[in-house]
Amino acid sequence: MVSARPAVQSLPVYKPGRNPADLAREIGVERAVKLASNEVAFPPLPAVVRAVTAAVAETNRYPDNGAVVLTRALADRYGVDPAQVATGCGAVAICQELAQAYNDPGTSIAFAWRSFEMYPLLARVAGARAVQVPLTPGRDGGSSDTHDLDALAAALDDTTRLVFVCNPNNPTGTAVRRPELERFLDAVPAETLVVLDEAYREFVTDADVPDGVDLMRGRPNVAVLRTFSKAWGLAGLRVGYLLAEDPAVAEAVRKTHLPFSVGMVAQAAAVAALASEAEVRTRCAAVVAERARLTGALRQRGFEVADSQANFVWLPLGERTVELAGALEARAVITRPFAGEGIRVTVGTPEEDDVFLAAVDDALAAPAP
Ligand SMILES: *Cc1c(COP(=O)(O)O)cnc(C)c1O
Repeated sequence: MVSARPAVQSLPVYKPGRNPADLAREIGVERAVKLASNEVAFPPLPAVVRAVTAAVAETNRYPDNGAVVLTRALADRYGVDPAQVATGCGAVAICQELAQAYNDPGTSIAFAWRSFEMYPLLARVAGARAVQVPLTPGRDGGSSDTHDLDALAAALDDTTRLVFVCNPNNPTGTAVRRPELERFLDAVPAETLVVLDEAYREFVTDADVPDGVDLMRGRPNVAVLRTFSKAWGLAGLRVGYLLAEDPAVAEAVRKTHLPFSVGMVAQAAAVAALASEAEVRTRCAAVVAERARLTGALRQRGFEVADSQANFVWLPLGERTVELAGALEARAVITRPFAGEGIRVTVGTPEEDDVFLAAVDDALAAPAP
């Protein structure tokens, strides 16, 4: 009998979020609201639809493995050299490519916990040790929801090849600010690559939260990870990118890149999205306004909600998490629960969020099961 590597056998099976159509059918309602995956609720940008339609006609050919047009557009957008850019089949693919490029078995990958689901899996598949540093309360008396960068720096050792800093942090939505992040970068050894995962950068409104692309300048061991899946509205097409101060980092990612994994249609869509930046900004502003309304409405209901810099909010419900998430599903609202910790709720349209808030009210008013 063949058997997968022990590290793979022990991996949990990926549990995708509930499909809204399935849930609606199961509970006998017309439609369910999905606030579980941090997509934006807007349809694809008009220019993206046109670009995708045109690109489909060429799909008998392989895509450009170097993604030259997209890479150039990203380099222009961020004021870097194309050699500092690497694209991937979603930012998650780049995470994996980084681990393949930098982690021999016995090395380690450090990150805060709770943070992005992918980081511990990455470490396991690479045969690397996961160094997990607990979040700390962002406010006095609050729950643990914020990076402890001093503790993260202290946890690095000479086996640590990668350290991820998810800013704003998924799933808590909190962000670290310039002085602490600069102090952290100054403390990280030159042999450890800092990956600033800024999947939600476009939703940041706090001027003290630095742009990783500015911070990486002059720091050859810093790279920034971004994605077209969230603000840019291309989650279904799978495009992410890395910007690195040292071109050797981008080159290492390109070397471990699964060939042709960023499809032709995806590349065309990403180029068109970049050309529609003004529209994307308008959409992000709408999400930010709705984030404030949703945060206020939840606080009014007595929930502790940290200030989010992303397109989701975090409810630190502890032991009540699974029960409330289940009660919301029974009321046709899908959120993202982390058992024993809290619920992450994507900022939806005002209508979707009203459905969510009504479901919360209804669930809280119902007698305990
Ligand atoms: C969504 C997300 C990503 C990237 O997702 P892709 O769809 O693979 O580009 C990366 N990091 C974090 C923290 C995310 O939440």
